Amino acid sequence: MHEVLVTRKLDPAVIIKLSETCNLDIWDEDTAIPYEELLTRIVGKDGLLCLLTDNVDAKVIEAGVDTLKTISTMSVGYDHINIEECAERNISVGYTPDVLTDSVADLAVGLMLNVGRRITEASKAAQDGEWDFWRPYWMTGVDLSHATVGIVGLGRIGSTVAKCLKGFDCNVLYTARTPKPDLEALYGMHYTDFDELLAHSDFITVHAPLTPETNKLFSTAQFAKMKPTAILINTSRGGLIDQDALVTALTNKDIYGAALDVTTPEPLPTNHPLFKLSRCLILPHIGSASIATRQDMGNLAAENLIAGLNGTSLPQQVPLPLS
Ligand code: NAP
Repeated sequence: MHEVLVTRKLDPAVIIKLSETCNLDIWDEDTAIPYEELLTRIVGKDGLLCLLTDNVDAKVIEAGVDTLKTISTMSVGYDHINIEECAERNISVGYTPDVLTDSVADLAVGLMLNVGRRITEASKAAQDGEWDFWRPYWMTGVDLSHATVGIVGLGRIGSTVAKCLKGFDCNVLYTARTPKPDLEALYGMHYTDFDELLAHSDFITVHAPLTPETNKLFSTAQFAKMKPTAILINTSRGGLIDQDALVTALTNKDIYGAALDVTTPEPLPTNHPLFKLSRCLILPHIGSASIATRQDMGNLAAENLIAGLNGTSLPQQVPLPLS
């Protein structure tokens, strides 16, 4: 039997599957495991099943290094794990791409429609008694149909958003580290550099990972290059946006609106200025939160862990950096 730490209360099906071959030490709560607990309980474990809320840094890896063979995160983002340290220690890392792609893309498109057409804002106005009679120009917003949409990061989720936008007859621009001519042809979109994308897009949707290179990719200079009618959507990671600069840009009407599924920190304190702005919609990191997708993510995380513990190749392994 393998010794495994599971950092959260998970779907019983996942726990039953792991129990067949593992002795489980479960942080059996609906809240994140405290860092000090993680540090203590990783000692002597062969495997770790973690979530994006767990800070698996060099210290945690060092604490478990005598026995730790594999780490499996129930997320596609892995910016919470020190991947360089794992590579150095020969620890494999599993993640859950693909199974959540459609859910996150659905949400990104939903957020474009929501902020563009002011859905949450209008619903709140109706609830607050502001709906006295039908008025021709009240709550008028921005159409997604025929809009120019800029996609930052054309990977699994970004390209699925592009596929969805075909149905809205959008003019789609994208930027990524490498151009993708096959996807361009498939979805009828155009590669541009970042500045061009900022200047021409009515909606900008962010799907690049959080890395040192993308940290605060959107700040004052970028907001200044965007159209005053532009809407920014972020379902990637909060760190890609300089939130203080976003508050200023929205307050000064340098851009029209924003929707963030991800923030810094998470949860965002309820007194944060972003919550006070009517054209800023904040969600509590629900990108992959459909019932079916969360089940699939749990199953894939368990499969990755078991494969890593058995020394076989992981169904979905994070590409480790070359040393
Ligand atoms: P992916 O397939 O790896 O795609 C990432 C894309 O970003 C790639 O096309 C990559 O370009 C591009 N990229 C990397 N660095 C860039 C840069 N500096 N500038 C522009 N583009 C850059 O990842 P994915 O599965 O689509 O997921 C994307 C992100 O979504 C994840 O990293 C995660 O943080 C986030 N996410 C959030 C939720 C949520 O609940 N809100 C759920 C799932 C995922 P190349 O192809 O040229 O390398």
